[in-house]
Amino acid sequence: MTDEIYGPWPPGTPLSVTNPQRHAARLAKRAAKQKRKKARAAAIKRRHTVGRGAEYYAYLRSDAWKAVKRRYLESKMPKVCYVCGKTWDRSFEFHHLTYRTLGNELLRDIAPVCRACHEAVHKRNREHPEESIRKSTKRLRGKQRPKTPV
Ligand SMILES: [Zn+2]
Ligand SMILES: [Zn+2]
Repeated sequence: MTDEIYGPWPPGTPLSVTNPQRHAARLAKRAAKQKRKKARAAAIKRRHTVGRGAEYYAYLRSDAWKAVKRRYLESKMPKVCYVCGKTWDRSFEFHHLTYRTLGNELLRDIAPVCRACHEAVHKRNREHPEESIRKSTKRLRGKQRPKTPV
């Protein structure tokens, strides 16, 4: 009776498990998901702090790169997603169309992209390592639909 009115009694008692098998399966699934999440985070951290990529990610945190982005935003270059055409907002990122001029970018070497398109571009480039990053980016142009209407 008390349970029906106040929930488990005394407070803090776990709710009774009606189907232990399903409960165990659910716990296992949750644990596996956590594990995958951890592995992903570790892989990203490795990419950002170890090896050849480290220098690149250090550059992306630098004032020099911030200045390049500012220069772009103050210029007359288009302020829309290079891939889907969505209007610029603060969540946008800058994408390198070439890494050859890294650290010395011309404004046409970089392009503002929305997060969804940025992710899609790099995914495509990973799946098509034979393509240059510029080519992968151009391939997706006009194909990605903006999530919210422009
Ligand atoms: Zn986009
Ligand atoms: Zn990029």
